[in-house]
Amino acid sequence: MEQLDILWEYQELDLIVDQYENDIKNSASRKQLLKLKKYLVDRDQYLVKLDEEANSKTDDFDRILREFESIQDTMANITKKAGSGEVKSLDEIEQMLKEGLLLQDKLKKNESELRKLINELNSFEKELEDILAKVAQAKKEFARIKKEYDNEVEKIKQEQGEVKAKRDMLAANIDKALLAKYNNLKITRTPVIAVLENDQCSGCFMSLASLVVQNVKDRKRIVECENCGRLLYYRN
Ligand SMILES: [Zn+2]
Repeated sequence: MEQLDILWEYQELDLIVDQYENDIKNSASRKQLLKLKKYLVDRDQYLVKLDEEANSKTDDFDRILREFESIQDTMANITKKAGSGEVKSLDEIEQMLKEGLLLQDKLKKNESELRKLINELNSFEKELEDILAKVAQAKKEFARIKKEYDNEVEKIKQEQGEVKAKRDMLAANIDKALLAKYNNLKITRTPVIAVLENDQCSGCFMSLASLVVQNVKDRKRIVECENCGRLLYYRN
């Protein structure tokens, strides 16, 4: 059947068109771009987290610094009072000394906390600088590969377009209903046309009944594989 011969040729070109599509999908530069994009999104999210942590540490720092200053004020007042000669009783002096020692302890604690926070904030800043440098590098890399990829795709699309044009020229000679059937089958079975080989369907390897085999060999009408539904083609 001549129609199936044309459709067979159509399928060969159609498969090449699909292959070009796969070439684009599997392109090494596309994979690199996807990886870089993932990295950049990941870094973006991490930077948000880092920023939140740094803000919270800065808040801690401010709070402890205010506390530190307020204790310093209290101590200055005590010292002033002690020097003023207003305090007469021994009890009161003892009380003031006790209070002074407690406050000194608190100040020491606050001081070490502030030091720790400064160190942490410094390392945040270092990390931030490091990440921003790496992100800038990745963005540069992305732009460079994107250019490569775009050129690659353009070249593939051009080649694909030429094959597509040939394929579509053949389509004009194929019965519309048959072509529709082909396109419909293609959604689930590629390739759609299976060659008859050793009385088997080359698509699903099912052995075919002798009457089916005969019908395919007669080439008088379109025969579908009873098992997979592919169009059976006999090349003589
Ligand atoms: Zn089959």
